[in-house]
Amino acid sequence: MSETLRAERDIDDQDLAHLRRCIELAREALDDGDEPFGSILVDAAGTVRFEDRNRVKDGDATRHPEFEIARWATAHLTPSERAASTVYTSGEHCPMCSAAHGWVGLGRIVYAASTEQLGSWLAEWGVGPAPVTALPIRTIAPGVPVSGPAPELADEIRGLHARLHGRV
Ligand SMILES: [Zn+2]
Repeated sequence: MSETLRAERDIDDQDLAHLRRCIELAREALDDGDEPFGSILVDAAGTVRFEDRNRVKDGDATRHPEFEIARWATAHLTPSERAASTVYTSGEHCPMCSAAHGWVGLGRIVYAASTEQLGSWLAEWGVGPAPVTALPIRTIAPGVPVSGPAPELADEIRGLHARLHGRV
């Protein structure tokens, strides 16, 4: 069975609902002049504890929502609460955010679109490469359970990135 088929099967309806909220946050970021990425942290009881979206427009390119979640989690959750939490995100963590997630001991990650998908869209649009090598979460933080992508959300996310790069 392919990696994609295995990933699809472990994303349930509740996960999809959380991912849709991440996409709303991504759209909010784009509407405000930032890059379209949104993420939320859900605790073991299923409660959304924190949400954020990309905030790079003022020049700090490290202000990714997943990085903000890692920082918030160290200030507000115990190590066991962090390990039992799930981080949902519209786009797969970049290496910086995967490392932060791993270092602070957060639990499962569920992403809607993969780094590989985003890379193929950017290549198609002729957008130059990022300054940081794109590597899968599993390569950076191998102990973290990861689910994704969610194929049913790909078109919507592609549309947001197309808008960012003036392709629509
Ligand atoms: Zn990141």
